[in-house]
Amino acid sequence: MNPTQTDTSLFKRLPLFERLRFVLVETSRAGNVGSVARAMKTMGFSDLVLVAPKCGDPLADPEAVAFASGAIDVLQGARIVPDIQQALDGCNFAAAVSARLREFSPPVWTPRAFAAHAGSQPEVRAAIVFGNERVGLPNEIVEGCNILINIPANPDYSSLNLSQAAQVLAYEARLAAVGDGVDQRGVGFHGETASVTQVDGMYAHLEQALVAIDFLDADNPKKLMPRLKRLFARTGLETEEVNILRGIASAILKARAPR
Ligand code: SAH
Repeated sequence: MNPTQTDTSLFKRLPLFERLRFVLVETSRAGNVGSVARAMKTMGFSDLVLVAPKCGDPLADPEAVAFASGAIDVLQGARIVPDIQQALDGCNFAAAVSARLREFSPPVWTPRAFAAHAGSQPEVRAAIVFGNERVGLPNEIVEGCNILINIPANPDYSSLNLSQAAQVLAYEARLAAVGDGVDQRGVGFHGETASVTQVDGMYAHLEQALVAIDFLDADNPKKLMPRLKRLFARTGLETEEVNILRGIASAILKARAPR
């Protein structure tokens, strides 16, 4: 199989969410199709193509609908096609997702390596192709893909549920698309980062306090301040934290002041 070649000059800078297709080959359980739709939508993806599903009508099946939950739009927007060639129409990069490594296989990548590649190359229009629950992907499909993505799982039990494998891929693709947090502090609630001037002011204040309690010898300071600075530098101080530290320094100086 040759993924359709497309003139790359036509590509606009589409976000990865619009350039990544999930393809399910000969899925047996309608519930898994619904779960994949949910896995995709939770991560912001919506292009789902089913190749010759082996379950009744997966778009209307009650189990699929129940498992899709709020991702019913992704489930019902899925396209059903008879073969892999049609599923890959419009794509220029095909990745077989497989638990099994094979003798004749394209290069094996992790989900993260794939996501980094697809996320950083705006001309890539990728399809990730998942196999049937029992037999996985046929060799002919794997051999026709550009890469094989393997989730490096427990070697003694490495076969994930289809939709859980899709979730891992969708998650990695999302992180590649949006970044894995605003900054090194990751996700969650954060205060305003302290400015360099605020932090320098705090160091000077702390140094004064440490001298006042004879912890720091001003004539022989050794490496105390550089070490403390390195310690604080690792923490990503916020303004409020700098103010607390200055408050502690003030209290020390006050306690030490002659009455
Ligand atoms: N017994 C099958 C496993 C099928 S699991 C086999 O040997 O291939 C259904 C699908 O989930 C697989 O075809 C694959 O697309 C995906 N999958 C499950 N575990 C995986 C893993 N560790 N790495 C990559 N894909 C996996």
